[in-house]
Amino acid sequence: MAEVLVYVDHVDGAVRKPTLELLTLARRIGEPVAVALGAGAADTAAVLAEHGAVKVLTADAPEFTEYLVVPKVDALQAAYEAVSPAAVLVPSSAEGKEIAARLALRIGSGIITDATDIEAGDEGPVATQAVFAASFTTKSRVSKGTPVITVKPNSAPVEAAPAAGAVEALAVTFGALATGTKVVSRTPRESTGRPELTEAAIVVSGGRGVNGAENFHIIEELADSLGAAVGASRAAVDAGWYPHSNQVGQTGKSVSPQLYIASGISGAIQHRAGMQTSKTIVAVNKDAEAPIFDLVDYGVVGDLFAVVPQLTEEIKARKG
Ligand code: FAD
Repeated sequence: MAEVLVYVDHVDGAVRKPTLELLTLARRIGEPVAVALGAGAADTAAVLAEHGAVKVLTADAPEFTEYLVVPKVDALQAAYEAVSPAAVLVPSSAEGKEIAARLALRIGSGIITDATDIEAGDEGPVATQAVFAASFTTKSRVSKGTPVITVKPNSAPVEAAPAAGAVEALAVTFGALATGTKVVSRTPRESTGRPELTEAAIVVSGGRGVNGAENFHIIEELADSLGAAVGASRAAVDAGWYPHSNQVGQTGKSVSPQLYIASGISGAIQHRAGMQTSKTIVAVNKDAEAPIFDLVDYGVVGDLFAVVPQLTEEIKARKG
């Protein structure tokens, strides 16, 4: 069976959920071979094996943390040359997309970014993408070289699929470009205790209707009752009510959770572009004609200051 390279996104050995989702998709088209780089790379092996990795190629070197992206591309290319895979899957993070694009260029292959599904096809893997602000779904396949595909978080279930997960050291020779851009400092974002926006299973977002930074606690409390991430429309971000890192939409982040709750958000096309692939969409808006109601699964016409706190209380009560 053909091998499929899966680039592992991890923090000091803790594998992030989008990588486990990639393993589910990789198993549909071949045998997953994971590539884990940097500090803690070998610690990823057990969890990767539990989710289907037949092999885990690891490499650690200061270059992976001291320099931006290119050392990781050098390593992924080394893995590609060692394995000759049928496809390379990379998580669709900002870094993942840069790594994937650089690899595709180096190996002369086509690339598909932000896929939301992958299935086996007669002539190679077929990837699904949402395009034109998610108004259309396309299915495509790479027709040149080895398909390089980046996949959005929450696109596939995490499945237990025990495999060998044998750890092998990957020999990497860094090229001249590897040390071209040095990291001069790192400042970890203050932790809110909430899940990362693009990976969260549930996202609760607030818009202009929230009417001030001082009211965003209503959105946060609903999010916390559900273990959700908090998002915001650009209107709320531009008004300075919530950080840009939480903006959902064309010029913000693209999310695809199981549940998206929009409160006081009208549903402009640029906002929809970042959330329309959510599995279930709920909106609270006092205007029954708001365009967001065209795409919801459940809509509440009402004042968010009355509806959202009641919803939060009800969820807390049911959780006991
Ligand atoms: P509004 O459109 O003003 O809607 C507010 C809604 O709240 C209304 O529907 C109103 O009925 C409702 N409301 C008011 N009070 C209450 C209440 N008490 N209870 C319940 N409902 C209430 N937007 C994004 O979000 N993300 C992007 O990434 C983005 N990128 C853009 C890129 C470009 C190039 C451009 C031109 C625009 C972009 N926009 C983006 C902006 C977008 O066009 C909209 O202006 C924006 O999404 C509107 O935000 P909103 O829905 O919060 O505000």
